Amino acid sequence: MNLQELQIIKEKALQNHVPIIMDDTLEVVDKILKQLKPKRILEIGTAVGYSAMCFSDYLQENGIIDTIERDVERIKEAKENIVKVGVEEKINILEGDAVEILPTLNEKYDMVFIDAAKGKYPFFLKEALRMLNNNGIILADNILYKGYVMSDYNKHKQRTAVRNLREYIAEVTNNPNLETEILEVGDGLAITKMIM
Ligand code: SAH
Ligand code: MG
Repeated sequence: MNLQELQIIKEKALQNHVPIIMDDTLEVVDKILKQLKPKRILEIGTAVGYSAMCFSDYLQENGIIDTIERDVERIKEAKENIVKVGVEEKINILEGDAVEILPTLNEKYDMVFIDAAKGKYPFFLKEALRMLNNNGIILADNILYKGYVMSDYNKHKQRTAVRNLREYIAEVTNNPNLETEILEVGDGLAITKMIM
């Protein structure tokens, strides 16, 4: 993997306000992946491929990341980036709306990284649980959404997102088969494991 290219891609994404994974969040995910040694990862929200490329370093031999993106421009850029960094064998971009693509998938995944439309998090969770391996982990980025989720913030524009993020937290917290930790890194990260 070409780390120099990865760094250039990261800086360009930050300049262009592409909401890539934040450094402190990535640090936490790195630690999880080091332990997990995943064979298959599912990512919802590729953007320009930055997080997927970072995660790809921790895959087992012949492991793969399926990552979903609906924005045509970003898909094009992600494909170019993945080639530049030299990880095209490890990352498979699924093009289209995750709401339509997820129900068509039938793989099992060791980790699911949810990082797309906040209003769809409860649906993404349902699909992630359906495809999660026994020792698998579900991560939800931006779960605290600038602090709105834990405050009484109710402005119109973000209201649906906030309601759905709260619903996600309620579901992972109340489900007796799941164990969840919410970290205040980046924009908030929910880490959910299955209890055997
Ligand atoms: N994981 C990336 C950042 C993803 S940003 C990283 O850390 O590098 C969120 C992305 O999700 C955006 O590019 C947006 O176009 C995409 N997205 C949002 N809703 C989506 C949906 N319903 N289906 C597919 N992609 C979606
Ligand atoms: Mg994010």
